[in-house]
Amino acid sequence: MSEAGTSTSNVFTDAVARMVQIGEAAGIDAEIIDALRQPRATVAAALPVRMDDGSTRYFEAFRCRYNDALGPAKGGIRFHPNVSIEEVRALALWMTIKCSVVGLPYGGGKGGVIVDPKKLSRLELERLSRAYMRAMADFLGPDVDIPAPDVYTNARIMGWMADEYQAITRRKSPAVITGKPIELGGSLGRDEATGRGAFIVIEAYAERVGLDRAQTTVAVQGFGNAGYHVARLLQAAGYRVVAVSDSKGGIYSEAGFDIDSLYTTKHESRLLKGVYCENGICELVDHDTISNEDLLELDVDILVPAALEGVIRADNVDRIRARTIAEVANGPLTSAADAPLFDRGVTVLPDVLTNAGGVTVSYFEWVQNKQGYPWTLDEVRTRLADVMNKAFDQMWAYKTEHGVSARAAAYAVSMQRIANAISAGGTRAWFRAS
Ligand code: GLU
Repeated sequence: MSEAGTSTSNVFTDAVARMVQIGEAAGIDAEIIDALRQPRATVAAALPVRMDDGSTRYFEAFRCRYNDALGPAKGGIRFHPNVSIEEVRALALWMTIKCSVVGLPYGGGKGGVIVDPKKLSRLELERLSRAYMRAMADFLGPDVDIPAPDVYTNARIMGWMADEYQAITRRKSPAVITGKPIELGGSLGRDEATGRGAFIVIEAYAERVGLDRAQTTVAVQGFGNAGYHVARLLQAAGYRVVAVSDSKGGIYSEAGFDIDSLYTTKHESRLLKGVYCENGICELVDHDTISNEDLLELDVDILVPAALEGVIRADNVDRIRARTIAEVANGPLTSAADAPLFDRGVTVLPDVLTNAGGVTVSYFEWVQNKQGYPWTLDEVRTRLADVMNKAFDQMWAYKTEHGVSARAAAYAVSMQRIANAISAGGTRAWFRAS
């Protein structure tokens, strides 16, 4: 029996509508926009998993290869009860835009399993991860489609999947998946890469608009891998991180938090809302100071949604008071929130640029695996900064020249690159002219 997933059937329609609207306004060839309206392929499978009590349960799983004009498809695998085929498709479209924004030689893909991984034992989780790879191995490969971690998947799960793939193909091919443990060919710096990339983007933006870090307050929704690292780096650079939350609730302190101490305490308790901090010292207490909704509506300079999609929508966008939103999650704003925020002068640093540090270091991992030559952490960080800063500059130049939102600018640059690759193979205009 598979676990029931909450339907998020409009997330893909919304993602396509936004892409089409931005693409048309940017003058992208209609043929190219049409190519991006639907995925090239989506595989659905039922994964049989032997549970610890001896029974077999079936989990619904997906892998979507959205577009591969720029190179093999690339994107994570999500384990979450709310996964749906539509969500996987939306995430795969965003990966297509994202890889192109930062100039990687990749198309976009995504995968997911409808499961609450917190309810599985470690052995059940391993069997599920291996079952995913057994079902999908024919559609994946280092030059075809390369998965990575996403929500509720991690390096250990990537390690199991890589091992399973290598057992199936009877070859060592670590480049089939990224975000692996270092011992199995993972890259140094991959764990912090999404947060570090977002930090670089926020810093580049702060530089452009002249933000005074010590006066800049930040609220971070989501304290997973991406949220934790971006909060840590912002705090270390002098920003005041005044609110943090996880799926169970959040905490607020006007003086700001010491993120590392918060992280340690959360990992002792598994629950952020039970953590109380004063003067940089955090301890466990039994209270809930702020809800996730309240956090989104705080009067802060920078709001960082770093959890799931669709948290800022038509029904709450009017209550958002942040001056800047840095989208570290994928799709935290529905398209209905774009225009109202733009009209109010709120800058939204879009997901397809802001969280692209993760896939960028995934690309570095893939390159290292193909070369059989690992890089130092310094090399990874320096190259990540180069990629992110270059992409930010290109986005900002387009935004300044055309007077559009940062999202529209990032999409336009990205879609033009995809258009150039597709056109290099010949378009209607080219064939008609010859
Ligand atoms: N899941 C991450 C993302 O959404 C990383 C993908 C990857 O490294 O391929 O960008």
